[in-house]
Amino acid sequence: MVTLDERDETTWYTCEDCGLMFDDEDDAERHEERCDATEPTYIQ
Ligand SMILES: [Zn+2]
Repeated sequence: MVTLDERDETTWYTCEDCGLMFDDEDDAERHEERCDATEPTYIQ
């Protein structure tokens, strides 16, 4: 899932699955479709 985050008057699109940030919504959505971090990493 992509979340919006506004910082310094710039809107960032963050991939919640892997934490990658994009300044372009299309890039973010394209990444999300191919993001291979669909399975959560289990950290203990
Ligand atoms: Zn991702």
